Amino acid sequence: MGQPVNPQPLHARDAKLGGMSGFTRDSKHYGDRLVYEALGSKWDRYHSHCGCGQDWLSAHAEPAGFTVVRKGSGFVALVGPGLTEGVDEDRLTTNALWEAVTGRPGVQNWFEPVRTFDRSPESETGTKSIRTEKERAVRRAQDAAQRRAPITPAQLGYLQKLVTSVSRQQFDEALTSAVKGSPVEARRPDEKTAQVIERMTKLTARKLIAALVGEK
Ligand SMILES: [Zn+2]
Ligand SMILES: [Zn+2]
Repeated sequence: MGQPVNPQPLHARDAKLGGMSGFTRDSKHYGDRLVYEALGSKWDRYHSHCGCGQDWLSAHAEPAGFTVVRKGSGFVALVGPGLTEGVDEDRLTTNALWEAVTGRPGVQNWFEPVRTFDRSPESETGTKSIRTEKERAVRRAQDAAQRRAPITPAQLGYLQKLVTSVSRQQFDEALTSAVKGSPVEARRPDEKTAQVIERMTKLTARKLIAALVGEK
């Protein structure tokens, strides 16, 4: 379930974060994880058309499978499927989070850079290229693990409610597209919807939720 939220004092670069949000690697705050630092005011604005009156983070982002790994002044650092997990780092977009928060398809067709703040001592000596090779191997292993990560409790609870408001046909269509190319098998004969949901991965559950929210 991700790392606990650990409030930390501001550092120079956090103060400069200002009006920006973005994909970040910062060994000091996040270890070797890729995170998305989401500016609260920006995502509040994206969420304003929803009209649910709730908080975009707890009402939409967390149920869709995103996890807060740090809270800062005006921003939260998120990890999650399709945003920082199971993604190609050369093709990063916020479409997965957008879909969760707005209930509309993500249409970002340009790719975001990663801001890297490397504070490890090796980066100042001559061993960078060796470390980079190691990092690639670590990231490949992380990618593989992320693709197999099971559905989160927040996703499960949300999906259990969501399926009561769609037809079986709508569910099965959404399921088919959500599990395409994934290790999750289609519905087995006589398998109940509740059972299908329980064996989904975090990544496929995120896609299923996005598709079903669009159907409502
Ligand atoms: Zn800092
Ligand atoms: Zn809402």
